[in-house]
Amino acid sequence: MTPNLVWLKRDLRLQDHAPLFEAACADLPVIVLYILEPERWQQPDVDPIHIEWELDTLRSLKGEFEALGGVLLVRQGDAVQVLDDLRVAFGFTRMFSHEETGTMWSWDRDKRVASWARSSGVKWSEYPSNGVIRSLPDRDNWKALRDRRIQAESIPTPTRLAAPYNACSDKIPTMHELGLHARGLIGRPLPGRQAACDTLESFLEERGRPYRWAMSGPEEATRHCSRLSPYLSVGVLSIREVDHAVGLRMRTLRRNPEHADDAAEWLKSLSSFRSRLAWHCHFIQKLESETTIDTIAQNPVLDDQLDRAWDQDRFDAWKEGRTGLPFLDACMRQLTATGWINFRMRAMLQSVASYALWLPWRETGLHLARLFLDYEPGIHWSQVGMQSGTTGINTVRAYSVLKQSKDHDPEGTYIRRWVRELANVPTAYIHEPWNMPLMEQQMAGCIVGIDYPEPIVNEGEARKAAVAKVYAARRTPAVRRKSSDVVRKHGSRKRRRG
Ligand SMILES: Cc1cc2nc3c(=O)[nH]c(=O)nc-3n(C[C@H](O)[C@H](O)[C@H](O)COP(=O)(O)OP(=O)(O)OC[C@H]3O[C@@H](n4cnc5c(N)ncnc54)[C@H](O)[C@@H]3O)c2cc1C
Repeated sequence: MTPNLVWLKRDLRLQDHAPLFEAACADLPVIVLYILEPERWQQPDVDPIHIEWELDTLRSLKGEFEALGGVLLVRQGDAVQVLDDLRVAFGFTRMFSHEETGTMWSWDRDKRVASWARSSGVKWSEYPSNGVIRSLPDRDNWKALRDRRIQAESIPTPTRLAAPYNACSDKIPTMHELGLHARGLIGRPLPGRQAACDTLESFLEERGRPYRWAMSGPEEATRHCSRLSPYLSVGVLSIREVDHAVGLRMRTLRRNPEHADDAAEWLKSLSSFRSRLAWHCHFIQKLESETTIDTIAQNPVLDDQLDRAWDQDRFDAWKEGRTGLPFLDACMRQLTATGWINFRMRAMLQSVASYALWLPWRETGLHLARLFLDYEPGIHWSQVGMQSGTTGINTVRAYSVLKQSKDHDPEGTYIRRWVRELANVPTAYIHEPWNMPLMEQQMAGCIVGIDYPEPIVNEGEARKAAVAKVYAARRTPAVRRKSSDVVRKHGSRKRRRG
């Protein structure tokens, strides 16, 4: 019996997995394959922390496949070559996978695989991922289509996976064997399905109540955000599974409000959270519909006019967390050390790079991509576009570091934790240490300009000048014409009607 082949990509789970279910339904043996693609590791947005996370996830998935009688092959090489070798070895003629929305590299690879499948007589069936809709002509019906898909029943989990008699699981290579080295991350989440389900449960049952307001500050967000993003980015959970779990919890809270500690607050928080699950799909849809948004701005006319300039010193200071702006530096250092930071601080990091420091968005966006353990190209590059003001359709949001610092870290506890040079600086000066009299600097053991840098720019002035440039460019007819195209292609229809 010729087996079916399931190609896992960024869908590392057994549950709610249409390709696996369909392949297993046919009463044929199933080979499940993951390909380690060295060419992908060379891409500028990919970091060894991403590969390590995938390997660790695969390690726990392998046991789940084997428990059902299946096997997990993990092969290294060019996708076409690996697939063809397996076709020769096992004679499969049907291949199943999810559609992948990635950067141009993955699109090109998938085109090569499609052409190989046609010429080798392999029928390749691709299934949609989460709420992303392939070949969508415009955004008019996107929301209805997405909601229908997410509200549908989850795909049943196969109860048995028959492996071909001549196949057994591969050993999953170590990073060392692959010749890769990932930086160590403090508090890296545990990999795998059980850890993902535990994280979801603790969010829905314990941590999520103050989510709505706690998501903004870096310290509170660390505990009260769901922290599901690393699992979602490699597909350990599907968006539908998470959405259904939230829906169930909300129904329970409505039915039995007396069983919860402040059901009303819980419901508001979970409703905000559910909207963000929809944003996940909304932003990935942008990359799906315009596959170059990581290299060409959504509004390239506007981007050309802004003509941001490369400045190595500024870039280095930003990426190393030594701009002399304490709150910004603390955020960059937390992100570098842990691989995660909350939404508002991600937005601030990108916005300061693009406005006050006037650095090109592609390079700063690449650096952030490599820092995020949860790197998801569609969300990431859409957000980089928004926070750098290069879509031409979004409100210009240039974050003031000082305001964020005072709003979200009034006592400077967070700054002191991550910027150790400032550990003894009094609260009165923690947000602007350059204003500290010399005597106080000596007492705090922190001489500004020696132990901790002077600010590399006057952030307030630089930001205001940058915002003025962006507004001026947005007023030009050529930019406005292009912005109308961007709205047609990517804009949220709800907002447009409003
Ligand atoms: C410049 C920039 C880059 C970003 N890059 C990424 C990225 O590479 N990968 C990534 O997953 N998120 C990215 N985000 C969005 C957001 O910051 C993260 O999804 C969130 O911080 C992840 O933590 P969480 O899972 O605890 O989020 P929660 O607040 O608990 O949200 C749950 C899930 O909803 C989705 N979500 C939340 N906020 C957003 C949003 N604003 N846009 C789209 N989806 C959202 C994510 O899938 C997230 O895991 C980026 C934001 C900015 C401003």
